[in-house]
Amino acid sequence: MNVHLLGYTGSVQHENSGNVSLAVTHDRTSVLIDVSGAPVMELKKTGIEPRNLTMVLITHTHIDHIYALPSLLHQLWLMDRREPLVVLGNQVTIQKAKELCDVFALEQKKRMFKIVWEVLEVGAYHGSLGSLHLSVFPVPHGVPAIGCAFEADYRKFVYFADCAPNFTYPEIAYDANLLIHEASGLKSEEPVLAEKGHSSARQAALAARTLRAGRLVLCHLPEHFSCYPEILAEAKAVFDHTQLPELYKAYEV
Ligand SMILES: [Zn+2]
Ligand SMILES: [Zn+2]
Repeated sequence: MNVHLLGYTGSVQHENSGNVSLAVTHDRTSVLIDVSGAPVMELKKTGIEPRNLTMVLITHTHIDHIYALPSLLHQLWLMDRREPLVVLGNQVTIQKAKELCDVFALEQKKRMFKIVWEVLEVGAYHGSLGSLHLSVFPVPHGVPAIGCAFEADYRKFVYFADCAPNFTYPEIAYDANLLIHEASGLKSEEPVLAEKGHSSARQAALAARTLRAGRLVLCHLPEHFSCYPEILAEAKAVFDHTQLPELYKAYEV
């Protein structure tokens, strides 16, 4: 299984990265998690053929995680995709996603491929995508949000999207070979981050330690990258196997 970061900033982009978005691939399966930036360009940069996407998983309704969905679907239509595409999310997220697509009447386009809107029931999902197993679980945030775990070949990747720290973690989130966790700021900003349902880098590292992760990659980073060395240092003081994100590279899990 490979994981690729297509963007790693929080709500405000900077010259080196767009908003957080990632892709998980295994065999013929490819899942795009959140849709921001220029998804088709970014998928191509990682070597993933956008036309062959298996699923789009949207973690929550905040604009930095969902806004590029109409553009992605429109481009797949122009690229002559024929296969149905599953778009998965919780109830409010799928409702928002549909509304976004309705603005452009995407589903009414001639010869539009079928969009399979899949709503998570009570926030949890377990399903197999070829040889890749996906589990989804709710995480605390300002709006209903989800995290996810992918398993293949006895390896595990866990992603915590925007979320507050230190809650009752689901069993599936433990013992991941790779954990990608949001880190929206420094320790000094934790009270402000908590109000918005976000975690600091230190809190992401605490999660990695609690969850016995093999390694931690931080994402959803702040707008000003001058603080990144400090962000990394604060996290590494808690969990040494922490890295700042690198775009497009394949994280082998
Ligand atoms: Zn966000
Ligand atoms: Zn959010």
